[in-house]
Amino acid sequence: MEDNPRLAEILLIEDNEGDIELTKEAFEEAKFRNNLHIKMDGDEALDYLFKRNGNEDAATPDIVLLDLNLPGTDGREVLEAIKENSQIRRIPVIVLTSSQADKDVLESYDLHANCYIVKPVSAVKFMKVVRHVENFWVDIVCLPSAVYQRESS
Ligand SMILES: [Mg+2]
Repeated sequence: MEDNPRLAEILLIEDNEGDIELTKEAFEEAKFRNNLHIKMDGDEALDYLFKRNGNEDAATPDIVLLDLNLPGTDGREVLEAIKENSQIRRIPVIVLTSSQADKDVLESYDLHANCYIVKPVSAVKFMKVVRHVENFWVDIVCLPSAVYQRESS
């Protein structure tokens, strides 16, 4: 935690309660401080990302974990909306989905997903993957939000 005193803001867009619980647990055990924001459907997620409809004070996430199959606006459309917007397109979007369909993999990259991960079925493996995501995307990657922070300090 001392290595990385910065607070990481993570947006999880996921409708499966079991996966939400496992992701929460993995982030609670993370070695860096983090705020995990959870949105269970695409429309709520877009309101949060675009800071509208009561989300005016929302923290801009450092990274987004995105499920593809969501109620309301689905994950593909959420991804498209993020990557079409010059204000938020730099936020890395990690697609984390149960779909292994080639079409979904390719379409997600076409829409500029930053990476595509198929959810492991077992809970133990799922948490392991979430920990890898944390370590890589928060501890190792140089994030655009870190640059913004340097610029403003
Ligand atoms: Mg889903």
